[in-house]
Amino acid sequence: MKLSLALLVAACDALVAPPAPKRATQLRAVAAPQDSYKITLLPGDGIGPEITPATVKALVAAGKTKGVTFDFDEQLLGGCAIDKEGTPWPDKTLESCKAADSILMAAIGGPKWDGNPRELRPETGLLAMRQQLGLFANLRPAKAIPQLLDASSLKREVVEGVDIMVVRELCGDVYFGKPAGIYTDDAGVRWGQNNMIYSEPEIERIARVAMDVAQKRQGRCCSIDKANVLDVSQLWKDVVIRVHGECGQGVELSHMYVDNAAMQLVRWPKQFDTIVCGNIFGDILSDEASMLVGSLGMLPSASLPSEGPGVFEPIHGSAPDIAGTDAANPLAMILSAAMMCQYDLLQPDLAKLLEDAVEAVLDAGYRTRDIVNEGNADETLVGCKEMGDLVAAKVAELAA
Ligand code: NAD
Repeated sequence: MKLSLALLVAACDALVAPPAPKRATQLRAVAAPQDSYKITLLPGDGIGPEITPATVKALVAAGKTKGVTFDFDEQLLGGCAIDKEGTPWPDKTLESCKAADSILMAAIGGPKWDGNPRELRPETGLLAMRQQLGLFANLRPAKAIPQLLDASSLKREVVEGVDIMVVRELCGDVYFGKPAGIYTDDAGVRWGQNNMIYSEPEIERIARVAMDVAQKRQGRCCSIDKANVLDVSQLWKDVVIRVHGECGQGVELSHMYVDNAAMQLVRWPKQFDTIVCGNIFGDILSDEASMLVGSLGMLPSASLPSEGPGVFEPIHGSAPDIAGTDAANPLAMILSAAMMCQYDLLQPDLAKLLEDAVEAVLDAGYRTRDIVNEGNADETLVGCKEMGDLVAAKVAELAA
C-alpha cells in the first residue's frame, strides 16, 4: 500500500500530538436562554388530555416566577389523530414540531385502535415522529424518591439512593432493521423476521451522548451489549471504546452483557450511574430500572436529536383503564416538563423549581391513587387536576 507524503506527515503528527479531544455532544434545542418559548403540546390519548392541563398549569406557574412565557401549540398524535385526520402522524403535527423550541407529549394508544392495520396504529405515529425528528437519544432517569421508597418491590436498603440514567439509542436496531416481516416459504412454513443492525455512526452518536451525560453525573458509564454472541454487539463495544477514548475524559467506562445487567439491576442497582445501550436492550432495561424506584406515574423521559427540539414525555402509556376518571398521576409529565426546561430550554432554575415543588407536595402527604398507601393517615388522596393545582401553587410559594 502506498502512502502519500501528506498522509504520512499527518499520521506522524497524530503520533506526537494527539488531536484535541472532540466535544461529546450538544444536548440543547436553543442557543441561549429565552424569555418566551414555542412548545408543541401533544396530549395524545387516554389520560393524556388529563395530565396535560395539569402539567401546563405547573409549567406556566414556574415560568411566571422568572418572567418566562410559553406559547403552546396543541397538535394531534396517535389514536386521536387517526380518528380526526385518518393518520397517526399528521403533516400539521410534524410542521408544528419542527417549528417549536421543544415538544411536550403525554401518551398515545389504547384498545380502540389495537385491531387496526399497522399504518393506522397509534404507535406507528410515535415511531414516525422519532424517525422524522431524528430522536436518536432517549434519556430515562430512574431516581429513588425518598417519599416513595416503600412503593418499590425491592428492599428499602437496595433502592434508597438509586440514581441511574439510562441512555437508550432510539432510531436503530431490530425495530428498524431491514429485512423485516412475516413470510411463508416454499414448504408453506411461516417465518417472522427482524434484523438487529447498527452502523458505526449510529453507535458513535449515542456513545457521545452517553459520555456527555456521564460527565455531568458521577462519571461512570456502563455500556450494555451481548458481544459474546452477537456481531452487532461486538461493533457496538468497539465503537463505544473508541468514542470513550476520544471524548470520555473523566468517565470510567465498563461493559456488561445484557443478561447480567438485567440481574445486576435488581441485585445491587446502586452500582450503576449512566447506562448506555441499543434500542431493544434499552427498551427492556429502562423499564426494569424505572420499576426499581416505584410507580410508572412518577417517571419522566427525554428523546433528543443532534439538533432541533427534543420530545419530553412520561415513560408510562395512556392508561386507558383509568382514563376519564381524574385518577391519573400527572407528576411524571410535570417532571418531563422539568427535563425539557433543563435540556432543551436552558432554564435549569425552572427545572429545579418544578422538581422541588413535586417533592414538597409529596412531603406534604398528597398522593394520587397509584402511589397512595391506603390506611396511612399522613397521606391525602387527590385527583389528577388537584395534584396539578397543588404543584402549581407550591411552585409559586417556593419562588416567593
Ligand atoms: P400504561 O403505562 O398505560 O399502564 C400500565 C398501568 O399503569 C395501568 O394500570 C395504568 O393505569 C397505570 N398507569 C400508567 N400511567 C399512570 C399514571 N400516570 N397515573 C396512574 N396510573 C398510571 O401501559 P399499558 O397498559 O401497557 O398500555 C396502555 C396503552 O398505552 C397501550 O395502547 C400502549 O401501546 C400505550 N403506550 C404508549 C406509550 C407512549 O405513548 N409512549 C408508552 C407505553 C404504552
